[in-house]
Amino acid sequence: MKASVFFGPKRKLEVRTLAIDSPMANEVLVDVAASGLCHSDYHHMTGDIPHPAPAVLGHEVAGLVAAVGESVTGFKVGDHVVSCPSLFCGKCLQCVTGNTHRCESRPGRAAEAKSRLSLDGEAVHQFYALGGFAEQILVHENSLVTVSREMPLDRAAIIGCGVLTGVGAVFNSAKVHPGSKVVVIGCGGVGLSIVQAARIAGAGQIIAIDRVAEKLEIARKFGATDAFQGGDDAVAQVRELSHGGADYVFEAIGIKHLIEQGVQMLAPGGLMVMVGATRMDESVSIPVLWTLAMEWRIQGVRMGSSPFTRDIPTYASLYLQGKLDLDTMIAERIGLEDIDRGYATMLEGKHTRSVVVFDDVMKHAAAQ
Ligand SMILES: [Zn+2]
Ligand SMILES: [Zn+2]
Repeated sequence: MKASVFFGPKRKLEVRTLAIDSPMANEVLVDVAASGLCHSDYHHMTGDIPHPAPAVLGHEVAGLVAAVGESVTGFKVGDHVVSCPSLFCGKCLQCVTGNTHRCESRPGRAAEAKSRLSLDGEAVHQFYALGGFAEQILVHENSLVTVSREMPLDRAAIIGCGVLTGVGAVFNSAKVHPGSKVVVIGCGGVGLSIVQAARIAGAGQIIAIDRVAEKLEIARKFGATDAFQGGDDAVAQVRELSHGGADYVFEAIGIKHLIEQGVQMLAPGGLMVMVGATRMDESVSIPVLWTLAMEWRIQGVRMGSSPFTRDIPTYASLYLQGKLDLDTMIAERIGLEDIDRGYATMLEGKHTRSVVVFDDVMKHAAAQ
């Protein structure tokens, strides 16, 4: 099967033909219909966060189950599935208390077993145990969830990481309450998901900040009540617009000075929600006395604090009910050979998500 292979930082991805094993035990083989370009793959493409090579990146996948291992009971051939990087064991303390996203022992293949993917006999790594930029993925069943057959699989794919992270940050991590004042810094796929979820949660004011005017327009369409291009006076602008600060500030990019600005935008008792991933060694500076006096709180978010087997189907149904707009979130559909260009376009900042689509599987799924 064909896959886009990562051979190391700052090198172009190459489409190659890989060998893929058959599913063992709890594994599922999936024909990929669609695979989203999320920013976290890009951190590895640049080398900001190290990743072993060769590897297949990509981790927002939707597709059709092609085969299952002998121990799989939750999936059958033909099921429509979405993947999630939050592979979980189901047995550790975090899992049994509903926090599968914080699983302490993610199940994998035995070290002595044959690798799932290989190129000319050499093992190929799967990013997040998925490896979605490929015609097929061979994964543990606890990386997958079924979704309704009515759900278009290209839009389902982006729920698997970006939308799950943004919407989950609002509903699970922050628990935004009706009438509250919300600031969203960064309006890419995750930030725009936060804007939409804040609207669904009944926020009274949603202030969107991004450097790109086109994204601010989309943010307004999705429910932002105010939107402006950030800058040195962003804190003052938020304080004026909100009459004293925000109850929740979400930083969805992962930039030091934006996180630091975000803290200063909080109202007394406000919550700073850090969603965007930074470089490995990044730290931020926070004014301690103000944080004490104002009782500011700080929360990190991992994969939307989501038990994904509950939340991915839930967010798919919000789409089918017309409450969560995923159509506008996808700016372009591309082929496996266009991923480098897709990331370059994303970095220009002018559009939201590019999604790799495999037309044959999309058509097959739609016909079912
Ligand atoms: Zn676990
Ligand atoms: Zn992601």
